[in-house]
Amino acid sequence: MRLKTAMRASQAKPPASSYNVVVVGARCAGAATAMLLARAGHRVLMVDRGRYGTDTLSTHALMRGAVVQLHRWNVLPAVIAADTTPVRQATFFYGDESVSVPIAPRDGVDALYAPRRYVLDRLLVDAAVASGVEVLYGVRLEGLQRSTTGRVTGAVLEGESGAVHHVSSDMVVGADGMRSTVARLVGSTTYRAGQHATATLYGHWSGLDVAGYEWYFVPGLSAGAIPTNAGEVCVSLTVPGAELTRLFAHQTDEAFHALLSQVAPGLSDQVARAGPRRLQGFPGHVGFFRQAHGPGWALVGDAGYFKDPLTAHGITDALRDAELLADAIDAGSGDALAEYQEQRDAASLDFFQTTDAIASFRWTLSEVRLLHETMAKAMSREVKLLVQPRFTGSWA
Ligand SMILES: Cc1cc2nc3c(=O)[nH]c(=O)nc-3n(C[C@H](O)[C@H](O)[C@H](O)COP(=O)(O)OP(=O)(O)OC[C@H]3O[C@@H](n4cnc5c(N)ncnc54)[C@H](O)[C@@H]3O)c2cc1C
Repeated sequence: MRLKTAMRASQAKPPASSYNVVVVGARCAGAATAMLLARAGHRVLMVDRGRYGTDTLSTHALMRGAVVQLHRWNVLPAVIAADTTPVRQATFFYGDESVSVPIAPRDGVDALYAPRRYVLDRLLVDAAVASGVEVLYGVRLEGLQRSTTGRVTGAVLEGESGAVHHVSSDMVVGADGMRSTVARLVGSTTYRAGQHATATLYGHWSGLDVAGYEWYFVPGLSAGAIPTNAGEVCVSLTVPGAELTRLFAHQTDEAFHALLSQVAPGLSDQVARAGPRRLQGFPGHVGFFRQAHGPGWALVGDAGYFKDPLTAHGITDALRDAELLADAIDAGSGDALAEYQEQRDAASLDFFQTTDAIASFRWTLSEVRLLHETMAKAMSREVKLLVQPRFTGSWA
């Protein structure tokens, strides 16, 4: 069945001339939004300029809200079947002190998961296809169609062969990441921005002995260990943006190991014994909130709201906002879209401000511990939002 849906998702056939919704971007935000809209009866086309089942630049720790949604959408069984390690505790290391938080069984979830993006995004696309979404890869959004009043009325899409398709739709959703073409084309404004950006290097190792998520902090450095698929662990290292050159040094591997040994010596020894792996790097980007909707368009995921990755909450945000947006589009009014933006911002503001404060690296260990407690409270509120009856009955 999975192979069948995978093949359907990869097929390159021309789009029809009209849809209820065109979603640009087929990763966590886009695939979840498209799937939910199709389940609510909308005719949905989803396009991505990339390829089916590929990786992207991201570590991949999911928080409880995301796992609750994957469970509710019946995608979690496939995540577990993909040999994704269950995470049953999170441990925060503040210098020599540590605090462990067990993952209590609640809301249908007894573990967290951190599937690789080529697993999670593919499974969400498969679920979207199984729900009736038409998916085209290798197709890029090039422009938008507009009515005489300026309302967005469709998308101009270009395939790899250069063929251009004009597709009309009631709504175009930009789920096309932080450098969103949709946001640029509609002129969406940034009305809140962060001040700090961190740089990250990460790789994946087998055979490491870690007990769930492990997050390490010393002044000026942070690291994480994230169990993922097939027994591998993602190890990441984060430095303040101003220290970028320390991380992306001429000898990047050596810089990674030298800095990792300062923040997480035991983990660093294990990584050194396991041998070299390919490292991937993110130079950093300050967070932002963009206007999330207008006549005939909306933004979801990083396209509309981005924050520094060091609190590992972007995918969880994206899935939450996919549900809020699908609900608003289904309601079919400008007021519902305005409410989507209000709810997104209300649910995100604590995460955004606290993440920016952690990303500043201007904290003592006791201060960063308090910031993590603020994050934990915001996550509890987020889960309460996601288990409201309004959602639990709607999207099965
Ligand atoms: C280093 C790093 C580590 C991170 N770690 C975590 C973590 O541990 N946990 C977590 O929750 N989050 C993490 N994040 C954040 C997370 O990666 C993002 O929040 C998430 O990827 C947002 O998903 P999205 O679907 O909105 O956008 P994206 O994943 O960026 O997907 C956008 C898609 O749009 C497509 N696209 C773009 N333009 C066009 C176009 N014009 N036409 C057609 N298609 C287009 C792209 O090909 C892409 O597939 C991390 C991010 C980084 C950079």
